[in-house]
Amino acid sequence: MQSIVGTSEYLPDEAATLAFAARFAQAVSAPCSVALVGDLGAGKTTFVRGVLRSLGVTGAIKSPTYALVESYGTSKGEVHHIDAYRIESVDDFEARGGFEYFASPSIRFVEWPQRLDGAITFDIEIQFAFEGDGRCVSVHSGKRP
Ligand code: ADP
Ligand code: MG
Repeated sequence: MQSIVGTSEYLPDEAATLAFAARFAQAVSAPCSVALVGDLGAGKTTFVRGVLRSLGVTGAIKSPTYALVESYGTSKGEVHHIDAYRIESVDDFEARGGFEYFASPSIRFVEWPQRLDGAITFDIEIQFAFEGDGRCVSVHSGKRP
């Protein structure tokens, strides 16, 4: 994981996002909480789909926008894909069992982590930004000074 933290690169198309996701999947291990930051359509869900495919998930992969979380058994253990976009508050997140996914040593990806108001400490933050026809991705340690 150290090899990928602190890097940033240009992803010209969706295939590049999936290739980046495959490299991330190789590097990550549980427990790990990953914040995915970026505007609507920046590629957060595409990235998680790429990670899951790399970790052997062959079935349907749904965006968790409505369900809050989708969970998968993978070659690196349980992976939870959370989308906090539609939560009303941190209390709402708690009432819906959101924090329980952080209790066991799984890998968790969280879209719209800003909605959690700092209630979760992330190990890694990945930022996706629109750039030309593609995206720029940068990987940061979640533990900011
Ligand atoms: P988010 O979850 O951030 O809202 P999605 O992953 O649902 O975004 O959607 C991203 C959209 O952008 C998809 O249509 C996908 O095909 C496309 N996309 C993903 N990565 C890239 C890229 N590097 N360059 C251009 N388009 C991309
Ligand atoms: Mg999404």
